[in-house]
Amino acid sequence: MISGFTECIFCKKNAENLTDEHIIPYAMNGTAVLRRATCESCARITGRFEHELFREYWLSNRVNLGMKSRKKKTQPKTVRLPLQSDKARLVEIPVDEVPLPTLMLPNWPAPGILRGLPSTTEYQMTLDHQFYYDIAAMAKLQNTRGVSNRHRFRDQTFARVIAKIAYTDCISKYGIQHYTPFLSDFILSQQVRHDYKHYIGGTDLSRERLFPEPSPQHMFSCAITTIPEMHEDCVYAVSYLNFFSGYGTPVYAVVSGKFDGIPLISGATPNARK
Ligand SMILES: [Zn+2]
Repeated sequence: MISGFTECIFCKKNAENLTDEHIIPYAMNGTAVLRRATCESCARITGRFEHELFREYWLSNRVNLGMKSRKKKTQPKTVRLPLQSDKARLVEIPVDEVPLPTLMLPNWPAPGILRGLPSTTEYQMTLDHQFYYDIAAMAKLQNTRGVSNRHRFRDQTFARVIAKIAYTDCISKYGIQHYTPFLSDFILSQQVRHDYKHYIGGTDLSRERLFPEPSPQHMFSCAITTIPEMHEDCVYAVSYLNFFSGYGTPVYAVVSGKFDGIPLISGATPNARK
């Protein structure tokens, strides 16, 4: 584990008051940290999108699974779900009334770079999502409360969270020397954009192949691989992430950056592609 960065790993500008950075967010029970890695300004930006995912979209799942929260006292006791009859109106439902799981996740194609697309590709918005919920329990909630299971979910928020995990995980494993990150800009960007789909997406690889030893709780798995054949003189760092894997959720691929001048990094799993 490397620690004590001389500049913020995200903006590369600030070197004062760097704070510890959780690799897997604390809200997802993550414990590993990069010591003194992030400036206050970047921590505020990343905190905002993590808040949106963990305290809004995934709140009921996290609470009902007893996952960690740094601010348990201020943790919302209700989630807002849209009315079936009027999707624009939101109804407050106590967290413990919401079935486990009630998950919505983007259904993405593989990152463009892994499909051989040029970096100039103009990516479009994706509207396709996968839903995970207990059908009987959700039907009961829908009957008694008249709500829909389809809550607000911004793909870009989710993409920024997994980009940040892949980026910090890669740094913790391989360091920043020789490493050119693809996504540090995107992680900090507040604008709506779709170019991240060049580096972030789904995968055709099977879960069993990527995660032969899933975590006992089937909550989270992460691995890093390199793709030497993508380019002759550099290797790519690819992370695979799977949240709430016990529910058969999709695995996501994040190409967080590339390493120049290193033929193959020891410790990495070479060539996990089909
Ligand atoms: Zn910064």
